Amino acid sequence: MTLNYPRNITEEQELLLNSLNEMLISFNEEYWGKLDKEHLYPEEFVKKFTELGLFKVPIPDQYGGAGLSIREASLILEEINASGGNSQPFHGQYYMSWLLSKFATDGMKKRLFPALGDGKIRMQSMGLTEPDAGSNTPKIKTFAKKDGNNYIINGQKIFTSRIEESDWVLIVARTKKYEDVTKKTDGISLFLLGPEEKKQIEYTRIKTMFNSQTYQVFLHDVNVTEKNIIGEEGKGFNYLMHVLNPERILIASESIGDMRWFIEKATDYASTRVVFDRPIGQNQGIQFPIADVYAKMLSVASLRWDAATLYDTNGDIKKIGELANSAKYLASEYAWQAANVAMDTFGGYSVAVDTGIERKFREARLYKVAPITNNLVLSYLGHNVLHMPKSY
Ligand SMILES: Cc1cc2nc3c(=O)[nH]c(=O)nc-3n(C[C@H](O)[C@H](O)[C@H](O)COP(=O)(O)OP(=O)(O)OC[C@H]3O[C@@H](n4cnc5c(N)ncnc54)[C@H](O)[C@@H]3O)c2cc1C
Repeated sequence: MTLNYPRNITEEQELLLNSLNEMLISFNEEYWGKLDKEHLYPEEFVKKFTELGLFKVPIPDQYGGAGLSIREASLILEEINASGGNSQPFHGQYYMSWLLSKFATDGMKKRLFPALGDGKIRMQSMGLTEPDAGSNTPKIKTFAKKDGNNYIINGQKIFTSRIEESDWVLIVARTKKYEDVTKKTDGISLFLLGPEEKKQIEYTRIKTMFNSQTYQVFLHDVNVTEKNIIGEEGKGFNYLMHVLNPERILIASESIGDMRWFIEKATDYASTRVVFDRPIGQNQGIQFPIADVYAKMLSVASLRWDAATLYDTNGDIKKIGELANSAKYLASEYAWQAANVAMDTFGGYSVAVDTGIERKFREARLYKVAPITNNLVLSYLGHNVLHMPKSY
């Protein structure tokens, strides 16, 4: 039984969560703990997720999808994390699907969407980050040189998640050099590479402190055609906002799910663990930190909902950015706080692997640094929203 809280969702959304929860019962700590130990992709979970039709959520109905919105997607990923699971291995397909919905050609949508919804193909990987650019994403060096109707791509990526686990991969590359553009976000293009083109890419897995399929990627004379470009050449950074904003909203939702899980575990343990002849939760030093993160969870869940609603109703992109970044920032900070509260509540038992607390503790740490570090979120708010001087 996962921790619930008062929220304003529709009857249909409630039904969706009920059927998801029936499935989640079969995926317990033994399942997620084994994957964590062996650093394996959750194939069985993704198979059931597909069978339940959940990859159809972001796909428009005319292409065989469910035509649902970011709000439903955010509830789904939140619920998975609240059950003790980890949505990271498959969340990419959601925000990539929104990118295609908005900017791909009808032909590309007809080709990819039905197969994505049925799980015949996967599209969960985006290579943006580079070793020499880091958070300064416009400074990426991967370059796609025009050659007739083709492009030859050369460069290097780091932390490209799930490239091995995806059939289709998004590669962000410059088609005009950083030095040759006045506005630094100009001259960036998005290339969607299929299984054949992907064969030209080399990659090696990066060992991480939790179960994560993330890779170092090498592009050496990768030959693609202009049909692989999404939208117009050179305008990719603007399109990317329709990956990055949904990504931040969905990741905030996963952190909210993590908070629910930590709060539930800490509350149960605090109510049953007896020391000095009384439950430890009777002590305010244990009870108040749990209540404190519960109130924070409620507040950030509302902020996330506002961000998702604004996106779903085609709100102003800058306002979406403000809410999506703030939700990701607060949710990841609060989830990390909740993780530490759970560790403190469990005392010595927090480090015992079978409780799952230390696994979720390691997993919750990621969202303070990815997909954007929290310092960079604050820089974005400080400069773009509050109009203070730019720090970079
Ligand atoms: C598990 C994992 C999965 C990932 N998956 C993907 C993926 O699928 N695709 C992808 O493209 N990327 C992915 N990333 C990359 C991730 O988005 C980057 O790691 C992140 O954006 C930070 O970049 P960096 O690691 O180069 O940090 P850096 O840019 O080197 O920053 C290091 C530190 O310096 C701080 N800093 C830098 N500049 C400033 C400034 N001006 N003001 C204040 N502080 C500053 C940062 O906040 C940070 O704390 C993933 C990362 C991880 C760890």
